[in-house]
Amino acid sequence: MLSNETNHNSEHAKLSFENTEIAFRHSSNTDLNRAYWLFRIININFLVKIGPPITNFAIKIGLPIKSLIKATIFKHFCGGETIAECNNTIKNLHSGGVGTILDYSIEGEDDEVVFDNTRDEIIRTIVRAATDKAVPITVFKITGVGRFALLEKLDTRQPLTAEEEKEWQKVQNRVLAICDKAHASNVPAMIDAEESWIQETIDLLALTMMSRFNTQKAIVYNTYQMYRHDKLASILNDHEIAMVEGFILGAKIVRGAYMEKERKRALENGYASPIQPDKKATDLDYDSALDYCTSNIDKIAFIAGTHNEESCRLLAELLDTKQIDHKHPHVYFSQLLGMSDNLSFNLANSKYNVAKYVPYGPIKAVLPYLFRRAQENTAIAGQMSRELSLIVKEKKRRSK
Ligand SMILES: Cc1cc2nc3c(=O)[nH]c(=O)nc-3n(C[C@H](O)[C@H](O)[C@H](O)COP(=O)(O)OP(=O)(O)OC[C@H]3O[C@@H](n4cnc5c(N)ncnc54)[C@H](O)[C@@H]3O)c2cc1C
Repeated sequence: MLSNETNHNSEHAKLSFENTEIAFRHSSNTDLNRAYWLFRIININFLVKIGPPITNFAIKIGLPIKSLIKATIFKHFCGGETIAECNNTIKNLHSGGVGTILDYSIEGEDDEVVFDNTRDEIIRTIVRAATDKAVPITVFKITGVGRFALLEKLDTRQPLTAEEEKEWQKVQNRVLAICDKAHASNVPAMIDAEESWIQETIDLLALTMMSRFNTQKAIVYNTYQMYRHDKLASILNDHEIAMVEGFILGAKIVRGAYMEKERKRALENGYASPIQPDKKATDLDYDSALDYCTSNIDKIAFIAGTHNEESCRLLAELLDTKQIDHKHPHVYFSQLLGMSDNLSFNLANSKYNVAKYVPYGPIKAVLPYLFRRAQENTAIAGQMSRELSLIVKEKKRRSK
């Protein structure tokens, strides 16, 4: 026992997120220079503020800026406009031991034809994953296959009109078609979490899919946002349901992406915000969720979607102290393409399961995603962003 522990600990001691040589081994000097200039521009808060309206306006009046976007910010954060265009990124990540999660990033659509097309595209990502271990997991958003306002109405439990009932049936059929294909292809499919005022409907749908398709293996994963004060309890509750019904719980654990929007809506509508009182409370619940899932690793398959170094380190430690194999199929670390390569590639180098979201889609449809990534990476209190400082460190190392 003692020698085993020593072994695990010494393995863990080697895990460092500071090694930029490993983090950027897959990036050429040209890639690194492009990333350097990109993040320098993104660090200028003013430019990030005025960027989105100027870009949208330029596209609207037909200025030829798509190729400029494609060669810069799009190239950094996205795999391509189609699955085929993502092939180089998939190979590149795989060469560093990191898997790809193809994320068809079309947002804000409200049209039945688009919803059917999105369902078909998600199914194509599953087909692409089925024959390539470099693409171990797939993902989709319920709002990619159903109208936001309809989900919102369902969440309030208002009765639907006959027309809406038919529409809702179509949404459920699309989700079923995706999960059915995932199950038949033996490829896990994660369902992203969204705004709290549509999330209950998403949760119910996800749980129904899990109970149907996760009896032998975790195929469907729901997402739990730990910035919500009720979501640690949801994991425990859903685990209980899974135990009673006899299926494996699939859980993607994130902190949550819509905090400002959530707080603003709660304030405007006079209800208690679902968000934790502070960051510390979110972090505590996030780390408790990792602890809970690792303690129940036989019955919970989970993916830690985070760029937080402490949480990644904690999860690595939990696996070692609980003597869970780094390659246990029930645990994955996950980051977004173009961010936190120091975490992804150093974890993969220590033989943990890691996969990155690789967003793709037509440039215009992906723009809101790109604007969010830019906003996230602006300088804080005059300091270089974490990404930029890592790139600078690696450039210095290479020039030596
Ligand atoms: C692979 C992957 C998949 C993802 N999927 C989803 C998804 O399906 N749905 C979704 O909503 N998000 C998703 N996200 C985004 C995620 O929820 C976070 O917004 C983002 O990753 C930042 O959190 P962090 O854990 O990386 O790190 P950190 O930088 O440590 O945490 C920042 C986060 O902490 C929380 N926070 C910050 N300040 C406070 C405060 N004052 N009070 C309470 N909480 C606070 C917020 O959630 C904020 O985003 C995903 C992220 C990744 C990497």
